[in-house]
Amino acid sequence: MNKQVILITGASRGIGRAIAKKLASPESILYLHYGRSAESAEKLQKELAASGVETHLLQADLAKAEEIAKLIPTILEAHGRIDVLVNNAGVTVDKLLMRMSDEDYEEVYRVNQLAAFRLMRDVARPMLKQRSGKIINISSIVGLKGNAGQLNYAATKAALIGMTKSMALELGSRGITVNAVAPGFIETEMTAVLPAEIQEKIREEIPLGRFGKVEEVANLVAFLASPAADYITAQTISVDGGLNR
Ligand code: NAP
Repeated sequence: MNKQVILITGASRGIGRAIAKKLASPESILYLHYGRSAESAEKLQKELAASGVETHLLQADLAKAEEIAKLIPTILEAHGRIDVLVNNAGVTVDKLLMRMSDEDYEEVYRVNQLAAFRLMRDVARPMLKQRSGKIINISSIVGLKGNAGQLNYAATKAALIGMTKSMALELGSRGITVNAVAPGFIETEMTAVLPAEIQEKIREEIPLGRFGKVEEVANLVAFLASPAADYITAQTISVDGGLNR
């Protein structure tokens, strides 16, 4: 049987790193994408390689079309297939609407939304040919509920949900599944920057009373990437301690 060829964007840190660890197995070939965090991506690669997993690093600034364009062809050249795409990389540039510049909006749009669209477009053809494939887009509770100070981020995360549903409709007849995962507040560098009193306020609103762990998001992604989820598509599944209800 073919090994499962997997691309995870933003695998250098946080949730992406946890997803890479969870998907790593002797049956998988992992492409770990990173942007600026070369050192931590290399560290992860070494760690996985030591446990016998085939891994490759791919560097690209996802804000740039020409850097994105080389990612999928590199994988196809080496293996002739791609089985799983996890669009995980994301950024925030938080500001209240009145202070948000076009650049603040565009930066978040390019990385969170446009890059995900470009990569989905690039994997569509090989997956259609294979008649199989799984695409998992990491959205957010903020895409479902909105958040003050995150209009740009909320827009991109809501867009990912719309793209997920549309692409699931376009690719479903060939057995390709497309799903979104909507994490709530997860312990990563992205949420560590929130002031302590805001973190406390958020915690009070979470039915399970705590922030989530990166592994808890990775568990769901691994399930969606597995044959156990073959009949699940076009869904947005929350991992948020009960915030979305
Ligand atoms: P993180 O720790 O800030 O990591 C972000 C990742 O995205 C890094 O690997 C980073 O790569 C990559 N990235 C960002 N901008 C990039 C660019 N221009 N080009 C290439 N790579 C870029 O974030 P996280 O908390 O793990 O979040 C991962 C995903 O989950 C994001 O889509 C985020 O929106 C979503 N999410 C997170 C939470 C949360 O509570 N943490 C909640 C809901 C949804 P480099 O460091 O190598 O540049």
